[in-house]
Amino acid sequence: MDDSKQAQMHPTHLTRTVVKHAAAAAVHYSGLRRGFAAARRVACGGRRVLILGYHRVVPDFEREAAQSIPGGIISIQTFQRQLESVARAGYEFAPLGQAVEVLTRQRTSKKDLCVLTFDDGYRDVYRHAFPFLRSKGIPATFYLPAGLIGTQRRLDHDRLYHLFGIAKRARLQPKIDELPPETATLMLAAMGQGKAVPAALDDYIGDVPSDALRFAIELLAARLGEAPEPAWGELMNWEEARRISAAGYELGAHTLEHVVLTLEGPTRIDHEIRGSKELIERETGSPVRHFSYCNGWYSEQLVHRVARMGFQSAVTTEDFPNRLGENPFTLKRKVLWEDFSTGLFGQYSPALTSCCVDDVFRMVGLGHPVSGNRKQRFASEAQWRLLDNRSVSRPSLDKTGSLPFAVEGETA
Ligand SMILES: [Zn+2]
Repeated sequence: MDDSKQAQMHPTHLTRTVVKHAAAAAVHYSGLRRGFAAARRVACGGRRVLILGYHRVVPDFEREAAQSIPGGIISIQTFQRQLESVARAGYEFAPLGQAVEVLTRQRTSKKDLCVLTFDDGYRDVYRHAFPFLRSKGIPATFYLPAGLIGTQRRLDHDRLYHLFGIAKRARLQPKIDELPPETATLMLAAMGQGKAVPAALDDYIGDVPSDALRFAIELLAARLGEAPEPAWGELMNWEEARRISAAGYELGAHTLEHVVLTLEGPTRIDHEIRGSKELIERETGSPVRHFSYCNGWYSEQLVHRVARMGFQSAVTTEDFPNRLGENPFTLKRKVLWEDFSTGLFGQYSPALTSCCVDDVFRMVGLGHPVSGNRKQRFASEAQWRLLDNRSVSRPSLDKTGSLPFAVEGETA
C-alpha cells in the first residue's frame, strides 16, 4: 500500500473526505454554487479570474502514479472533463496576458476568465494536452525550465524520487544519527517511515540550495551505482517547444534549472530569471512575458527583480482567489491533479470539480491554502553584495558531509 492510500484510510481523514464529498454534492446539485460564485465575484472586485496549474497529463493515471510522484499527474480523460466543468461553471478560457490586463484594470471582461498553465515542460503535456487544447482553440501558457529543455536531464524532485525507490528496494539503511534533521526526515520517508515521500521531498527541496541538491543527487546515484535519471519524467525538446509557440501559445520562464529562488543569492537569481527568458526567446523567436516561481515560492526581492526584467506577470501556487487591482507578480493559482476530481468510489465527480473551481471548500472553511511568500534566504543587501563577490565552492551533501545511506558492507 502506498503512502497516500495509507493516509486515506485514517479515520479522521476518511470522515473529512466523506463530509467534503457530501457537501460538494449538496452545493453542486442544489444550485447553491451559483450563490457561492456570485459572492466570490463581488469579493474579487466584480470579475473572477481563475488560474489553473497542471504538471503532467498522461493516458493512464494509475500506471504512471505507481512509478512517479502522483501529486503532479492527471489523466487525459480527467483533464478534459475538468475543462468541461470549468466551461459549464461559466468561465471563458482566456490567454494569460488578457487575464492580467483584466486584473490590472487595463480592460474589462464580460465573463469570468479561466487561464490554463502548465509548469515544468513535461513531454507528456506536449503529447496529450497540447493537441487537445489546439483542437478546441483553448489558450494556455507553458512554463519551461529552459536550461533542461532539449537535454536528457529530469527535474530534481523526479531524480530523487527515483533514487529513493531504488534505495528502498535495496533495503538500504539511512544513517539517521549522522544527518541534519531535515535530511533525516527525508531519508526516513524514503524508507517508508514517518512522512509521505512527496511531502518530505517538498520540504527538503524547499530547504536545500540548488547546488547542494544537485551534488547530493549525483553522490547518491554514484553510491547506488545507478543513473540519476528515471525512464519517466521526460521533458520536451526545443522542436516541440517551437511547435507550441508557432501554434500561438505562450511560453513562460520557469528558471533555467528549476531552482527555488528564495534559497539562492542575487547572482544566481538574476542568471536563472534572465537566462531562462533569453534562452526561450532565442530558441523560439517569441517574446517571453510571464514567469512562474519554482515551488511557487517568492519573496519581496524576487517580485522586484522579475518585474524589472521585463515580465508582465508571475504566478505562485497560492490557492487564493485573484482580486482585481492586486500585484500581477504574485498571481494566485489553483494547482490541480487527478485527485481533485476523484469521487468516493474512484469515479470522476463533476460536483467535486465544480466546487473546486468555484472555491466552495475554502469559503466553508474546508481548505487551508499555504502562502508562497517566503523570507529570502540571504535577505540583506550587504549579504547579497558579499555573495556576489564570493566564489561559490562545491557544497557538501549535508552539514556532516556524509552519505545519507549505509551501502552494503558498510556499518551505519
Ligand atoms: Zn516547477
